[in-house]
Amino acid sequence: MKSHLPSHNKTTPQKPAKAKAQLSADSKHRILEMLATNRFGTFFGVSQKVLDSVWQALTSPNGESITYISMEIGADLDVFHPVRNRLRHLEITEHPDETINRFLQMYLQGPLKIPNYSGGLGILAGDTLKSFADCKIPVAGISLLYRKGYFSQMVDSKIGQVAWASEWEPENTPGLYLLHDPESPTQPLTIEVPFHDFHGVRSVACAHLWLKMEINESLDFFVPEILLDYQTPQSPSWIQDAAQHLYDSSSEKVKATQRRLLGAGVIPVMEALGLTSRTIHLNEQHGVGVILYLITQSLQKKYGAQYEKKATDNDILTAAAEVAKRLVFTIHTPVKAGHDRFDISVYGELVNPFCRHILNLLALDEHNNSMYNFTAMAMRLNRTTNSVSRLHKEVTQKQFPEYADKITAITNGVHHLTWTSDAKAELYDTFPELHNWRRDPSVFAGAEALHRNNKFRTYFEQAWRTDTKILVEYVNRMLITHRNQRLATWIDPPNYLSYRSEGEVPLEHTTFTLGFARRFSTYKRADLIFEDLDRLTAMITENNWPVNFIYAGKAHPSDEPGQDLIRNVLAVQEELYLKSNGLAKLVFIPGYDMHLAKMMVAGSHAWLNSPKRPLEASGTSGMKAAMNGVPNVSIMDGWWVEGYHEGQTGWKFGYEGSVSSEHFSEQPSSLLYNEDSNSFYTVFPEMLRLFYDPSMHDQYIDKCIANLTLNCPIFNTHRMAAEYVARYELTLAPAVQREMEKFRKLYCSDPSF
Ligand SMILES: *Cc1c(COP(=O)(O)O)cnc(C)c1O
Repeated sequence: MKSHLPSHNKTTPQKPAKAKAQLSADSKHRILEMLATNRFGTFFGVSQKVLDSVWQALTSPNGESITYISMEIGADLDVFHPVRNRLRHLEITEHPDETINRFLQMYLQGPLKIPNYSGGLGILAGDTLKSFADCKIPVAGISLLYRKGYFSQMVDSKIGQVAWASEWEPENTPGLYLLHDPESPTQPLTIEVPFHDFHGVRSVACAHLWLKMEINESLDFFVPEILLDYQTPQSPSWIQDAAQHLYDSSSEKVKATQRRLLGAGVIPVMEALGLTSRTIHLNEQHGVGVILYLITQSLQKKYGAQYEKKATDNDILTAAAEVAKRLVFTIHTPVKAGHDRFDISVYGELVNPFCRHILNLLALDEHNNSMYNFTAMAMRLNRTTNSVSRLHKEVTQKQFPEYADKITAITNGVHHLTWTSDAKAELYDTFPELHNWRRDPSVFAGAEALHRNNKFRTYFEQAWRTDTKILVEYVNRMLITHRNQRLATWIDPPNYLSYRSEGEVPLEHTTFTLGFARRFSTYKRADLIFEDLDRLTAMITENNWPVNFIYAGKAHPSDEPGQDLIRNVLAVQEELYLKSNGLAKLVFIPGYDMHLAKMMVAGSHAWLNSPKRPLEASGTSGMKAAMNGVPNVSIMDGWWVEGYHEGQTGWKFGYEGSVSSEHFSEQPSSLLYNEDSNSFYTVFPEMLRLFYDPSMHDQYIDKCIANLTLNCPIFNTHRMAAEYVARYELTLAPAVQREMEKFRKLYCSDPSF
């Protein structure tokens, strides 16, 4: 038996007397309540009752649940981990029952990162599923398991980004379970997905299924994420290779194969587990291949085994229209690189001739008949298309005018419990005005009085100082480690400050700290504010205002312009430092991930976002900052058009005029570096003055609190989930329904819906 297939039946070995003595009868009982079993395995974290009731809802014949498909899910356990918190709270470190003890040790000591996300899309998926769990909406997520992750980033001062495979071990990661085959419980459950290889030969991809549980804080509901693992001995090696890295784009074939691994796996997963949801939500178009399966299924029902011969084109179109009623589609970006288009000869070869025929009817690109356009297909075949902010709705309607009528907006959010720092959470717990904020982020809307509450203002600043210290100390330790490693590795430390002499003081937490972290891609313009170093350093030196600029982010390994941006940021460090007489310190932190994101959004004094409008469809890191009361300084793009309240919550800069198709270009000459950086230089001194001038500092804190009262209640995934629930037309328990209505009353992303 494999070690990751836990069994109840093993005899319990002798345990040290110490552990027994330590464990109170109550804790012992409560931990037994955290173990549950069903046909597919034994799980830890929820009670049998909870497991049974969630599973029952997901497999009920009424289909009142959602299957949520995403190419990536970001839900690292080091940023949100209710089960471990509960164990810490119960002070349990060992347990006499062997099965429980194995889980326990895994939870307390196991690795807490699941590197199966690249950025905003994946984090949003994770945050969304967590809010569904909190709000008790029956949902199952489906994604892929990538054994080599996205990639690990190292950064060298001259080479720039160096990408490594991130090896990780699903087997040892707490909260992840390899599902058993109910017919033969020592074997993993395996699903088969029909494929054609690139020589027209039939082939089958075989996936094992992993279950990750997104469990809510009270441990009384969860959302299962089913992760397909195609690294199985039964899968052809080309499939196994294609399944290793998230967004492997080494060739069109690999890219196309990955899309099919997701889309074509959906229905086999649902059938294997008995999931019955009527509605399938596509988080981006990557999984749109599910449509092929649904259409053939429907034709098979009508015509039996001979359906390929009997079905006419008209039948196919009719079936497609029916299938479309089951689909909800969220489009996430106006940027072309985010839209899937594949050469017919590439994608067509992966599927059988009948599916190719379906694609020819439904997926041909209107401008190029030798391409399939999957974004357009997803746009065509659904009952609602959602963009991710109000401005993005306008943009999407301009990009897809033929579907303008059905495009609505649901502005993104973030999972407030995941992104609130420990210090801020403790603060929110302390004040009765914010009572119940963990379950109900709408309470922030009624907390206006906190503006005038001096105790709150003082405590807020204390908590913020704690967060800034954590960030600055992390950076300082990193700079020293890099310096010490300098001779030991072939990577040259990325940061200029690691080369400065030993005695020199690194960053200070009392210094104004500007944070910037996100994927490095052209339109996000990471280097925008360094366009004119003379101007930037002049405002710093004239007033003797020190500034820390803290940057992080990965560029996709095949995105050369994105990697240039990282090199550009590194390249200005020395000049910035010298021209500012050492007042401006720019640091790049390699290896951006959720943990770093949380530390940065909470510890910064302002959060910078400098994309080219309107290419940032939503952006979410700024919302994470808002959850911590940290003001944004941002281009009027994505969510900030809605989150900026006449200067109350932060600052805006740059072009904010109307948008039309001419603004959608990422051509270097169209990126408005000059205009938008100039605009930044006009607001930056005002920010620094409010921060540093003791007579104005109160105004700075006002902005922080305005983020809590105006933005926290809105830009969270509970509110977002409530808006999606309305699109799903889902019948829910009355108490859940009321809760959803409450969130919807607070905000409506799209008044025309
Ligand atoms: C939140 C987050 C993102 C997305 O940030 P944007 O502002 O939407 O670009 C990307 N990566 C990580 C690790 C994050 O936590």
